[in-house]
Amino acid sequence: MADSPLATIRGRVLAPSPRSRTIEQWPDALVEVAADGRIAALREAPPDCTRPVTWPGAVILPGLVDAHVHYPQTRILGSASGPLLPWLERSVFPEEARFADPGYAAAVAEEMCEAFIAQGTTLAAIYCSAHPGATEILLEAIERHGLRAVAGLALMDRSAPPPVLLPAAEALAACDDLHARWHGRDDGRIRLSMIPRFAISCTPELLRDAGLRSREHELLLQTHISENPDEIEHTLELFPGSRDYLGVYEDHGCVGPLTVLAHCIHLSEDEWSRLRAQDVAVAHCPDSNFFLGSGCMPLRKALELGLRVGLGTDVGAGRTFSLRRVAAAAYDASLLRGAMVGPEELLWLATRGGARALHQDDRLGCIAPGFDADLVAVDVPARLSGPALLDALLFRHDAGPVRATMVRGRVLRGEAPTLEPGPTPGPEPSRPA
Ligand SMILES: [Zn+2]
Repeated sequence: MADSPLATIRGRVLAPSPRSRTIEQWPDALVEVAADGRIAALREAPPDCTRPVTWPGAVILPGLVDAHVHYPQTRILGSASGPLLPWLERSVFPEEARFADPGYAAAVAEEMCEAFIAQGTTLAAIYCSAHPGATEILLEAIERHGLRAVAGLALMDRSAPPPVLLPAAEALAACDDLHARWHGRDDGRIRLSMIPRFAISCTPELLRDAGLRSREHELLLQTHISENPDEIEHTLELFPGSRDYLGVYEDHGCVGPLTVLAHCIHLSEDEWSRLRAQDVAVAHCPDSNFFLGSGCMPLRKALELGLRVGLGTDVGAGRTFSLRRVAAAAYDASLLRGAMVGPEELLWLATRGGARALHQDDRLGCIAPGFDADLVAVDVPARLSGPALLDALLFRHDAGPVRATMVRGRVLRGEAPTLEPGPTPGPEPSRPA
C-alpha cells in the first residue's frame, strides 16, 4: 500500500533531466509529495485547478548540491590573503585550530547549517577539520537541521601547524568510530567520507590508508588536486616517485569511481584521460578559483569527456554559500576558457550533476516520481519564462531570495503554512458558478 500523500505543491517547476543536462520547464505544475518524503507525481495543473499557488512568484527546483565546502572556514569566508599556500597559512590554519574548542565548533556548525538552508542547499560534501570532536558536532547539527551531508575528518598529519594536525593512527581510528556510528544514518541522509585534505598534508601511509578505507567501506574519497602551480610543485617534491599530481593519488589507491577531486585546473591531457578512464568525479569551484587567483577549470572539456561534475562553493576560499552565484562564476570562467557553458547546463550541474558526482543520483536531483522531495522555492519574477527565467535565476545577484528549502518534503526554512496538506484531487471540483 503506497503512502498517502503528504502535500501537493503548485507552482512553476524546473525539472532537470536524469542524464541529458537539460531542464524541463513546467509553467504550472502540481508536485505531489508522499508521506515518506518522496515525490509521488509531477503533472500539469488542470485548467480549472483551484489549488492556490504554493509560493506565488517563486520557481521550484531540486535542492542545490554543494559538491565541495569547508566547515571550519565558514567564518573566514572572504578573508583576503593572496593565493592558495599563503592563504592557508595566514587565514585558514589559525582558524581551523579554533575547532579544538567544542563551543566554538558548535556555534559555527549552526551558522553553516543556517547558511545552507538560506541558500537552498540540501546536500553538501563537507570537509571538517582534523578534530574528531568538531566533526561529530557538525554531523549532529546536520542531523538536527534535517539537511544532508557527506562529511568527514580532514586528514592531515604533516605540513601544517601542530594544532591542525592529527597523527595518522588517531585520525583513522576516529574515522572508523564516526563511520560506525554515523554512516548511513536516517536512510542515508548523513554519510561519512574519507578526506585526505590534499597530498601535501598527508604522509604516504595516511594517503594509502584513506584510500583503503574508501574502497573497503565504499565511502566517497574527497580531496584537492591541481589548484595552484606552487601547490603542484610542492606536491611533486614531496612525492618524487610519482609521475604527476594525479599519479600521487593513483599510487596510493585514492583514485576510482568514489573519488571526488576539487579544482582540476592545471591538469595535463594525460591526467584528464586517466580521470575519465577511472570514472572520477570533479567538484568545480569557480568562485574560489577566482578569489585565490588559481585559474579557470576547463569545464566544457570535463563535460565532453563525460566526467561527472558538480559545483562547489569551496567556502571559505569561495565567497558565498550560494550555488546560484557559483553557477554564475562558472559561466564567467567558461567564457574566459573560450568554451561557454550556459545557464541550463549550469543549473543542471548545481542539482542533478552534484547528485551524480556524490553518487546520490538514485534519489536526488530530479523532480519526478520516486525521487526524494528535496525542493527549493526561489523568487523569480512571474513574467519570466524560458531562457530568461534561467538567466534571472542564476545571473541576477540582486534577484529574489530562496523562499523555502525542503528535504524529503519537510520544510527546513520558509513558508510552511502555505503548504496545503491532503491528496491531489483527480479532476479539480469545479466551483459553483
Ligand atoms: Zn577546498
